Amino acid sequence: MIVQIPTCDDHRGISLGTFMIRDRCPKCGAARGVKRWIGKSYDGSRWLFVDCWKNACGHIDMYRDVRKEGLRMKHGGNRDKVY
Ligand SMILES: [Zn+2]
Repeated sequence: MIVQIPTCDDHRGISLGTFMIRDRCPKCGAARGVKRWIGKSYDGSRWLFVDCWKNACGHIDMYRDVRKEGLRMKHGGNRDKVY
């Protein structure tokens, strides 16, 4: 699945990255992103619109784990593309 999240903790409201991650929870293998919505991330000074999602199992994906797991794509990657 494709997600857009901050590329660092101190994103200054502009550092948004597109990442491709697995469709399954890395902790237990349950379906990932069963519910998705657009939310806001606050770094202490600025807001950034980001993708939010819920996993079937209830495990929470932390940004830093997603950044490690995910394959970074060029900004504006085609979000409808199937991998
Ligand atoms: Zn899980």
